[in-house]
Amino acid sequence: MVRKECAVCYRASFSSSGTGEWDCPYCGEDLSSEPVLPIEVNPVFRQVLEREADRRELE
Ligand SMILES: [Zn+2]
Repeated sequence: MVRKECAVCYRASFSSSGTGEWDCPYCGEDLSSEPVLPIEVNPVFRQVLEREADRRELE
């Protein structure tokens, strides 16, 4: 899991992978060239985020 912070709306978004296209889920800004940031979350929260990321990839 990695995180990027939007340069436009400053909200963090999460993905299972830092590669490829990455658009801000909140404002639609293209974050593909933004740096990938590490995340530190507790294991339960991490599972929730991973499930959300998986669901987005299936859409
Ligand atoms: Zn944004």
